[in-house]
Amino acid sequence: MIDIRNLTKRYGSTAVLKDCSTHVAKGEVVVVCGPSGSGKSTLIKCVNALEPFEAGTIMVDGISVGDPATDLPSLRARVGMVFQNFELFPHLKIIENLTLAPEKVLGRSPDFARRKGLDLLDRVGLAAHARKYPGQLSGGQQQRVAIARALAMDPLAMLFDEPTSALDPEMISEVLDVMTALARDGMTMMCVTHEMGFARRVAHRVIFIDGGTIAEDRPAAEFFGDT
Ligand code: ADP
Ligand code: ADP
Repeated sequence: MIDIRNLTKRYGSTAVLKDCSTHVAKGEVVVVCGPSGSGKSTLIKCVNALEPFEAGTIMVDGISVGDPATDLPSLRARVGMVFQNFELFPHLKIIENLTLAPEKVLGRSPDFARRKGLDLLDRVGLAAHARKYPGQLSGGQQQRVAIARALAMDPLAMLFDEPTSALDPEMISEVLDVMTALARDGMTMMCVTHEMGFARRVAHRVIFIDGGTIAEDRPAAEFFGDT
């Protein structure tokens, strides 16, 4: 589903990713961990074409991310991204956060988008909050909305960039529970996270990045020394 080969990414003259190669199979859950500043966030942003890269190839479901001919908005539409700080539209109601892109980008009818949005809110336990604004919800609730919003685009895969790092401790598990359910449903997921309990329970593989290089890329059981 996601195939990264010999990826090199520079900011100015500094290479922050050096010759990185890995892949994520359909239905696979990969956790990306490593020290702060090692390039984890940059790696998944390259997959979603949020960052350009200088060398190597990234294929997502057979689409070449670095190819200038690729329609990036439609690629981004199919690769869901969840950020540390939710990044919901503050001036839109929760349900409108979920229906905007399906209507504008995918051309869904308002009625279809709304029914699907409500279904997804139900799935993340927030059906009762559809008419509220993001600022009226807790951080954990907002992050669950952000996940539902990404799912509203029928993504091929989901990328998570430290989705629980900005949350109060008591809200972390409600977000990890939603991510766990998504993984159990067979979603292809690449998750940058420091939540090693989640990685141990849910990930199929763990990638450890250090200084812009993939230092380890192993089955989770092996990474955690269970075999
Ligand atoms: P991580 O997610 O592992 O904390 P990042 O991918 O955010 O690491 O960053 C990797 C390196 O790239 C860091 O040294 C960071 O300072 C640098 N970096 C990230 N974004 C930019 C940018 N927009 N311009 C210049 N350097 C950046
Ligand atoms: P994350 O926690 O997702 O890795 P950071 O907190 O490292 O993100 O960075 C936040 C924003 O600042 C990002 O857009 C990143 O590209 C940018 N950034 C990070 N490091 C640098 C840097 N050294 N120079 C310029 N921009 C940077």
